Amino acid sequence: MRISGEPLPGAVILFDGTTKMMTDWHHRDGSPATWPVSEGVLTVGRGDIFSNEFFRDAYIHLEFRVPDMPHAKGQAKGNSGVYVQGRYEIQVLDSYGVNVPGKGDCGAVYDQFAPLVNACLPPMEWQTYDIIFRAARVGEWGEVVEPARLTVLQNGIVIHNNVTVKGPTGGAMDHDVGAPGPLRLQDHGNPVQYRNIWIVHLPLEGSPYYDPR
Ligand code: MG
Repeated sequence: MRISGEPLPGAVILFDGTTKMMTDWHHRDGSPATWPVSEGVLTVGRGDIFSNEFFRDAYIHLEFRVPDMPHAKGQAKGNSGVYVQGRYEIQVLDSYGVNVPGKGDCGAVYDQFAPLVNACLPPMEWQTYDIIFRAARVGEWGEVVEPARLTVLQNGIVIHNNVTVKGPTGGAMDHDVGAPGPLRLQDHGNPVQYRNIWIVHLPLEGSPYYDPR
């Protein structure tokens, strides 16, 4: 498991620290992303941003840093979020030191699953998310045959062990769960920062071949 450093072979780089890469992201209305980039770091600006790259099953890596907001509380303390396929929010928040993290805390599948443990580092320290995502499977009329599933590591610690989502989380871009979707970063009004964002597309299944020898 890669938790930091260089992208894995075959990765699609979504943000490598240069402003050029912001042409690979857009706002909800389709206009180019305008979040500020400085010294290899992307800072949350006005409006959520969506990657131009869409995916189904994927391994997603990113690094984030929450600001130090000692007087802020709860959902106002370093809030952002990583929406997998634009639909399922993995919460970003300053939850450092929270004894029993809940379904709104950092690492939660927002309002569905609390992280198994609190893996948060203090504000202003870089943290990693490694997300293994299995997209929803749908039937020929778009009915959900298998909901999406998520395994998530925060700072190399397993915080979700193959959870089956209950559907898109609040604020999902749509409910068309059988369609590919982008990576989406949330503007919640706090200057959360991101760097080193990449994904590896995963095959939807392995070969049916079996050699009994
Ligand atoms: Mg959020």
